[in-house]
Amino acid sequence: MSESKVSVAPSERTVIGITFGNSNSSIACTVDDKAEVIANEDGDRQIPTILSYVDGDEYYGQQAKAFLVRNPKNTVAYFKDFLGKDFAAVDPTHNHASAHPEDADGTVAFTVQEKEEGEPSKLSVSEVTTRYLRRLIDAASEYLGKKVTSAVMTVPTNFNDKQKAALLAAAAAANLEVLQLINEPVAAALAYDARAEAEVQDKIVVVADLGGTRSDVAVVASRGGMYTILSTVHDYDFHGAALDKVLIDHFAKEFIKKHQVDPRENARSLAKLKAEAEGTKKALSLSTNASFSVESLANGIDFTSSINRLRYETIARSTFEGFTRLVDSAVKKAGLDALDIDEVILSGGTSHTPRIATNLGYLFPQTTKILAPATTPAAINPSELNARGAALQASLIQEYEAEDIDQSTHAAVTTVSHITNAIGVISLNEAGEEVFVPVVAPETAVPARRTVHVAAPKDGGDVLVKIVEGNTHIKVTKPEPKVKDESKTAKVEDADEEDGDDSDFDDDEEEEEEKREKVWKIGSTLAEAAIRGVKKGGKVEVTILVDANLAVTVTTREVGAKAGVRGTLSA
Ligand code: ATP
Repeated sequence: MSESKVSVAPSERTVIGITFGNSNSSIACTVDDKAEVIANEDGDRQIPTILSYVDGDEYYGQQAKAFLVRNPKNTVAYFKDFLGKDFAAVDPTHNHASAHPEDADGTVAFTVQEKEEGEPSKLSVSEVTTRYLRRLIDAASEYLGKKVTSAVMTVPTNFNDKQKAALLAAAAAANLEVLQLINEPVAAALAYDARAEAEVQDKIVVVADLGGTRSDVAVVASRGGMYTILSTVHDYDFHGAALDKVLIDHFAKEFIKKHQVDPRENARSLAKLKAEAEGTKKALSLSTNASFSVESLANGIDFTSSINRLRYETIARSTFEGFTRLVDSAVKKAGLDALDIDEVILSGGTSHTPRIATNLGYLFPQTTKILAPATTPAAINPSELNARGAALQASLIQEYEAEDIDQSTHAAVTTVSHITNAIGVISLNEAGEEVFVPVVAPETAVPARRTVHVAAPKDGGDVLVKIVEGNTHIKVTKPEPKVKDESKTAKVEDADEEDGDDSDFDDDEEEEEEKREKVWKIGSTLAEAAIRGVKKGGKVEVTILVDANLAVTVTTREVGAKAGVRGTLSA
């Protein structure tokens, strides 16, 4: 693997953010500290990650995608996921209708008729990537009116070192300085947190990145502007292409019924079906009805039909449920409960689908914000989150020398160690019971310092401050059992059965839901400090510092007083 690296002096840089996806890519820049996704010369902000060679010319993006119908053999699509992988390890499922991946000394290559005449060329996946990145850089340079030199790029959280090295080498060959590779879920979280109206507060966020050929879910703790990834789930079965397939099968069956021909059996007909199914699917994200129309679908027969959203949601139900399960499993993997989640960020093109967002609403309590176009009108376009985050990060770090960025521990990018339990103080509530007041939230990245003020007793005097660990558990309160009218209940059940309604989303008025709430449990005591003779109405300031080795230093002093008590506990 080439070690070559492009290095540009900070003053010479023009930076952008790049998301290089298996289905689509995006480029973004910042204008007055705000991220903006750049439209290429075709006006596209989601640029299909596809290159096509026709009559000696190279096409990319939407124009190349159109050639999947007429020139599939010389069209290279879905290649990003092969970068840095051995040929033996790749899954060619998505490449049946375009150039096929081939073995090139153990790595992946594609053979295409690149020149108008002569022998076809065998292009390595690295070469294809370099050529594609050049097109993105050119589009961004044209838009900005100056040559783009450098970028922050996003990568999935399971991108390994070999894949990263291959991406960096491909970018270097395109003469691009990669300032940093950042994780996609962190980029998405950053895009939201960088908005002027955003309050930076400690929160636990689920980022569900639902793309065209894969879905990635990450649970991220955001603490004081630092992001820590708590768990990740990756899936290659539930994605946008699976939803396209549902529609392809639906309309193919309708066509067979009318014309006794299966259009899926002919490669060109299937490519037409796929292109139209994707368009219909996208239309169903915006309206409740969409048409489906293909000229000369099979045997020269034109086909026109339509589908409403309800029907679509019924036939795609098991796929939609798959997305919900992925999110649920990521939360469980992080050892958390739905109640712990403050926000769910829906990212990736498939997240435009209204049903996916509403289904997630049922998984979480009402207090959890579901950030998707269907549930939150102010949500950021899910297709733009990663590129925006990358552009924001690029503008933050562009002034650093390359070596300094390498060592940088900038908040947005580091996955640092973090504490598991909360650390806080014991305080007395109105009933005189001991309660836990969290000072440093669980999953806070270290080092971290937090300060609280604890009120002294009304008349002043000695104050004992107890520093303890705390963790949450879910308290379930069952509803009070109601006195039932047996005969009535039986009737209702019968009626339900006759109805044959198996909807999960029906409100059952008869059944009151149990109450689930998050409560603090006091854990082990870390330190106790006595502050003597605090003034009447005085306050004690408690500062907790957790260093990078997880050692805890507690300093307590009366507010306004100089002397204090300080103690350090090792991890
Ligand atoms: P991957 O790497 O998983 O292949 P990606 O990150 O390259 O995906 P995205 O642009 O995030 O690509 O997702 C592409 C998917 O999103 C496609 O299946 C596309 O049909 C789907 N999609 C885009 N817009 C919409 C929409 N408005 N409604 C529903 N699906 C959409």
